[in-house]
Amino acid sequence: MTNGIVFDIKEFALNDGPGIRVTVFLKGCPLTCKWCHNPESQKHQPETNQKTNRLCGKIYTPSELAEHLRQFQDVFAFSEGGITFSGGEPTLQADFLMETLSLLTDIHTTLDTCGYCESSKFLKIAQAVNLVYFDLKLADDTLHQKYTGMSNRLILENLKMLDEHNIPLHIRIPLIPTITDTADNLNGLFNIIKSLKHSPIRIDLLPYNICAGGKYENYGMTYELTTIPNEPNQTSVQHFYEQLTQNNFNVMKG
Ligand code: SF4
Repeated sequence: MTNGIVFDIKEFALNDGPGIRVTVFLKGCPLTCKWCHNPESQKHQPETNQKTNRLCGKIYTPSELAEHLRQFQDVFAFSEGGITFSGGEPTLQADFLMETLSLLTDIHTTLDTCGYCESSKFLKIAQAVNLVYFDLKLADDTLHQKYTGMSNRLILENLKMLDEHNIPLHIRIPLIPTITDTADNLNGLFNIIKSLKHSPIRIDLLPYNICAGGKYENYGMTYELTTIPNEPNQTSVQHFYEQLTQNNFNVMKG
């Protein structure tokens, strides 16, 4: 049995998949997006919030976590909801995640992922859940490396792989002012989405969280995006929205 590290469990979540959900946030992420609003999610190990002195990151066995989540079974059944595994990047704890999923096969599960995971593990996890929320950030690899710390090559290969296996997908695009909301980037993302064989169930355009920098100091980190505007570029975002809807994609603006 593989233990996992969870840094938060959000009950009665309404925006993390169908129905009423419980979202489990697994600790650790291979990316370091400059706009990340959960900086405490990035390191895999438990760490202390320097302001509150509280430890962030609790260890669970798969059966402990599954048992905790089963308390909400009636709510899931009533609302056609379920459990969402998010992070950090949940696939970073692939063995723990797979073992936990194997104990919850009768409950709807969603994987919320940045797509950066060794491909064979990623496919197994994607096939073990009912729905995948897949983040797409930057189409250009150099910019992706600059703003997330990693190349987008594996992410795009994994997106293509899920598409080839016809895995039910929502694509989620964070609109970060001057970074992901540029006309060039949105055009690049449009071409990536258009090249897929199967239409994603939905494309979510996610607003920039202006409070993203709020927790960095608590974990001895520095938030760098202090001078970007609060709102994304309305012209390029509207053009992107129209491009998508005119091509019959189902788009939701957050
Ligand atoms: S992928 Fe998500 S959790 Fe990971 S650093 Fe980026 S925004 Fe934060």
